[in-house]
Amino acid sequence: MKILIVGAGIAGLSMARLLQKQGLDFTIIEKKPAASTVGAGIALPFNALRALKEIGVYDEVMAHAHQVREIHYTTAQGKLLAQADLTAPPFAQDKFIALKRKQLQDVLLSGLEDKIRYATELTAVDNQIHGVKVNSNNGDIDGRYDLVIAADGINSGLRAEQYPNRHTLYRHKLPGWRFVIKVEQHQLQPLYMLGKSDLFMAYPLSEDELYCYAHIHEDNDSHPLSGDAKKDLRAIFCTYGGPVGKILQALDDVEVICGELKSVDQARYYKDRIVFIGDAANACSPLLQQGAAAAFEDAICLVESLIKDENIGPALEQYKQARRTRIEWIINYSDKPLASIKKMEKALPRFIRNTLIRLLGPFNVFGWKKLATQAKLANKRKLD
Ligand SMILES: Cc1cc2nc3c(=O)[nH]c(=O)nc-3n(C[C@H](O)[C@H](O)[C@H](O)COP(=O)(O)OP(=O)(O)OC[C@H]3O[C@@H](n4cnc5c(N)ncnc54)[C@H](O)[C@@H]3O)c2cc1C
Repeated sequence: MKILIVGAGIAGLSMARLLQKQGLDFTIIEKKPAASTVGAGIALPFNALRALKEIGVYDEVMAHAHQVREIHYTTAQGKLLAQADLTAPPFAQDKFIALKRKQLQDVLLSGLEDKIRYATELTAVDNQIHGVKVNSNNGDIDGRYDLVIAADGINSGLRAEQYPNRHTLYRHKLPGWRFVIKVEQHQLQPLYMLGKSDLFMAYPLSEDELYCYAHIHEDNDSHPLSGDAKKDLRAIFCTYGGPVGKILQALDDVEVICGELKSVDQARYYKDRIVFIGDAANACSPLLQQGAAAAFEDAICLVESLIKDENIGPALEQYKQARRTRIEWIINYSDKPLASIKKMEKALPRFIRNTLIRLLGPFNVFGWKKLATQAKLANKRKLD
């Protein structure tokens, strides 16, 4: 089988490792000129770690990781709303970790360096039921492939091309900022501070480093955005309690990554001989931190389907059927609460939100528990 992987991100590299393990041949193309990672930190919940074991890089990732044991949700002033123990059932056998994105990317990349053709992009794609004919900008990989794996991220060119009139990305109207910052002896567990339409999250990466993420609704009533990330962060979050004051004071030398949350209009699985994995298939909000986990699980499930059925068509259908329920539930659970964020500018919806969190516990932990325990959400194979 001649396989082309498009994109050397988390999904593409995971896929490549699994194909390599099975002795299957493949080529990876990456449009960037060299290995590089944009992004600050990444939090990996229990199912991402289970998948890392199957991919075969669990120990290597753990060597860079910081295990987190509790999650705290507070008000903007730092008053506790709920906390959850991540070492108690159903997670007693599992771990939740955070690490720098570059460290995760480097582990996944290790040993695959020679397989990746950088600065390479497809210029023409002819997707047919028995194979895909491609041309590229440098001619390096031109030819016919039995299978093309689209792992080209949320802005997937392949998805846009295969679904020309139906491909849109949904904007949540949530501009946000991410950074890693040194804060000595912070003694924090993951902390989510909920304001009005604004949120500040701090996730420990080590004893003295935090991965921070913050956002605010773009139509909020109080803070017109200036476009200067540090200025906006200081203006919006200066009234926050807890560690935020200390974090804002240390911002000067920190690289802040700006972005906005977007999701795919709908999950895609395959079309003829192009199969979608990772964000290209199912990007959604990071509320459940399922981005990397979904990429890992997509790759595992796809490889298993390809091994089980030598005919690619039925194998791709198996992949779709195995992933569908879980993926669509994750997208819905991750994106739905974001539709109400603007309403949190008002006191009553905020009161209801906070009461729900007090009663049910942190939203993400509630979701992870469902993912861990509900049989109908399991992939139709033993991932959990
Ligand atoms: C603010 C924010 C916070 C997040 N936090 C978390 C978190 O804590 N935990 C978590 O699990 N997930 C998180 N995610 C989601 C996570 O980052 C993604 O799900 C994950 O990076 C998807 O990996 P991927 O390989 O599918 O895509 P990407 O990482 O985007 O990789 C795609 C690759 O394809 C390449 N490419 C693109 N187009 C082409 C082309 N035409 N030809 C060749 N190559 C191409 C790109 O250069 C890139 O290298 C977060 C996302 C956001 C926005």
